[in-house]
Amino acid sequence: MLPSFFTFSQSSLQDYSDCPRRFRLRYIERLVWPAIEAEPALEHERHQEEGLLFHRLAQQYLLGLPAESLTSLANTPTLTRWWENFLRFARDPRGLAASPGLILRPEHILSAPLGEHRLIAKYDLLAIGEDGKATIFDWKTYRKRPRNEHLAARWQTRLYRALLAQAYPSFAPERIEMVYWFTEFPEEPARFLYNEAQYRRDWDSITRLVEEITTATDFPMTEEVTRCRFCTYRSYCDRGVEAGPWDESLAEEEESTEFDINFEQIAEIEF
Ligand code: SF4
Repeated sequence: MLPSFFTFSQSSLQDYSDCPRRFRLRYIERLVWPAIEAEPALEHERHQEEGLLFHRLAQQYLLGLPAESLTSLANTPTLTRWWENFLRFARDPRGLAASPGLILRPEHILSAPLGEHRLIAKYDLLAIGEDGKATIFDWKTYRKRPRNEHLAARWQTRLYRALLAQAYPSFAPERIEMVYWFTEFPEEPARFLYNEAQYRRDWDSITRLVEEITTATDFPMTEEVTRCRFCTYRSYCDRGVEAGPWDESLAEEEESTEFDINFEQIAEIEF
């Protein structure tokens, strides 16, 4: 049922893991269902827009635009707070400025074939130090700081590190780290080191999950009905009408920029 040459991202892998039916509706049937994901809708929408704008500001700063010319674009109280936190982090010798000679690649995209399909990851920032260490940064605009255990289990954490290790064999997994930096909790980043055993386990899990999705004929609804509270297909699946409160949700705050990818910029990996 899956189209040939499907591109798997952390979002689609996560969607399948959370609810196979959601994967089918979103990526196979491409069903657009105009439901509110979280209430209150206006506040939720504003938060998403601010999240997108923050990511653009961070990208432009990391590409070399002076902070002074970007600051006026942070034009809401929330954006101003996030932007000031980000600048402190970017200039802090314990933060982004930790390693002299750092090569910064904002919005770096990697893609690799996997069987007849493809894996893709979009890194908010890939930082490569003089010591050969690669750090993946991901900016999160969550209102609540998630537990590290929650983040460690997310497909994003597993795919992003595994794809980098697969793409660049010169980076031993032990030289890869992933850092989630939170705009609202700038002093509490979540750091995830990596090693060879984790890499092998992750790559194996990704390969098996892609194989499972590729051969699936049944895409059942999740039994965890709490996941339906923030799902756009809630009424379509007859799993309720009202959206859950947006400040209780994490998943819907994930950036939805992956469909905004310019494939000409992709560093294709040859195996
Ligand atoms: S509403 Fe629930 S069952 Fe339906 S797609 Fe969403 S998560 Fe799955």
